[in-house]
Amino acid sequence: MSNIFEYAPAPESRAVVDIKPSYGLFINGEFVDGHGTSFKTVNPATEEVLAEVAEANDADVDEAVKAARRAYTRVWSRMSGAERAKYLYRIARIIQERGRELAVLESIDNGKPIKESRDVDIPVVAAHFFYYAGWADKLEHSGYGSTPLGVAGQVIPWNFPLLMLAWKIAPALACGNTVVLKPAETTPLTALLFAEICQQADLPPGVVNIVTGAGDTGRAIVSHPDVDKVAFTGSTEVGKAIARAVAGTEKKVTLELGGKAANIVFDDAPLDQAIEGIVNGIFFNQGHVCCAGSRLLVQESVADEVMERLKRRMATLRVGDPLDKNTDVGAINSAEQLAKIRELSDIGEAEGAERWSTPCELPTNGYWFAPTVFTGVSQAHRIAREEIFGPVLSVLTFRTPSEAVEKANNTPFGLSAGVWTDKGSRILSMANRLRAGVVWANTFNKFDPTSPFGGYKESGYGREGGRHGLEAYLKGADS
Ligand code: NAP
Ligand code: MG
Repeated sequence: MSNIFEYAPAPESRAVVDIKPSYGLFINGEFVDGHGTSFKTVNPATEEVLAEVAEANDADVDEAVKAARRAYTRVWSRMSGAERAKYLYRIARIIQERGRELAVLESIDNGKPIKESRDVDIPVVAAHFFYYAGWADKLEHSGYGSTPLGVAGQVIPWNFPLLMLAWKIAPALACGNTVVLKPAETTPLTALLFAEICQQADLPPGVVNIVTGAGDTGRAIVSHPDVDKVAFTGSTEVGKAIARAVAGTEKKVTLELGGKAANIVFDDAPLDQAIEGIVNGIFFNQGHVCCAGSRLLVQESVADEVMERLKRRMATLRVGDPLDKNTDVGAINSAEQLAKIRELSDIGEAEGAERWSTPCELPTNGYWFAPTVFTGVSQAHRIAREEIFGPVLSVLTFRTPSEAVEKANNTPFGLSAGVWTDKGSRILSMANRLRAGVVWANTFNKFDPTSPFGGYKESGYGREGGRHGLEAYLKGADS
């Protein structure tokens, strides 16, 4: 059975993007060949090879760090905040001007639906640069001093390639640091287009360096002795390895890691809105979201009704071509990630949870996983404990607010949570008791550059966004 709503395809044109057959590394303001090998990036919706991309080795990373150091010492740290702001505003405006190109390229390389890259990722990227541009000449009012750290080594994942780049680069530059950034192996293309935007904005050479590669390139960046600050977003496992690698050094570190958020629905919640919030919480970006509401906690008295309405709504989700403007759920980012989602879902079934997937047709090429919900999940199940990072929801029930809090906090993670209720007082008391960096009330997955984001426990440490996001890139008020 196909989706209950049929739509004529409405694909966005690819003509706006110019993907080159091969890409070098962006070091000291120029694209260079690099000394390492290369790798391919593919379109996960079709398995089409998009481009050959240079893999930076230790020598390349060293060159990039040297370029960043030179730019830091000679130019960027000497420039006034107001001057730096001009570059950031210029970059923000170019991102807006080239927004369509960036959105199409992001959807092609990552697999996310164009309506998300167009309406969420790219506008929030531009907003981030505008926001931190505004701070560049006001750092003395931040409470964190105005002295930059030096060279920042930044490593980011594939789920929001350009957005994670913006979260890293905008505050670093606003504070007067220079940057060596590695995008994820499966999604390097928008970072490389961003490098072109840096050229277009006449950003001084070496202020931003983009080195593509895989885990070894990331390791070379974080362990480079002349890097003053390490900023990482990715898995808890790699985050722990990085924390060990920098222990005993002078490097400052921020880690934004995994999550297993509880989305808590009380029986007095506006259920239609809650259903939309549940769907947005777990199926936005194919569930490749660190703060995804992957554990639905629903009050027992409304559990049957919520499940019935949720399945009805899920059956209307349109899964398919990421470039189609109708698409709600795009492709899984890689074959490896698809294998992980399948494995954990099979384990969920083997552990005794009941699995239901939407009756949608999946394309034959590419990497796809139908939106799925598990009921009858217990807290001990691996699908309730481990991050699936895909379009898979686990449903648990509760009777009292205290039970909801206990279940929500029963996780090694603590990144985000959602609360759905009609009572303001309950929102406040739940927010106080939930051990999560962000608590959304009667909404979910809302991002704004003015609002700090980050985790507790194994979700990492440090905050990105808002005034708090400056702290990671400044020496502190007393130095
Ligand atoms: P990952 O495997 O940890 O990779 C993240 C980045 O680190 C990639 O660029 C990766 O390179 C690189 N890397 C791998 N091994 C490394 C090492 N030993 N040293 C330095 N860098 C290394 O994570 P992922 O699977 O790509 O991303 C998904 C994870 O990110 C999820 O757990 C999710 O929750 C988390 N995440 C967290 C946030 C947040 O703000 N808290 C936001 C988004 C995602 P390659 O992958 O290119 O090989
Ligand atoms: Mg790709």
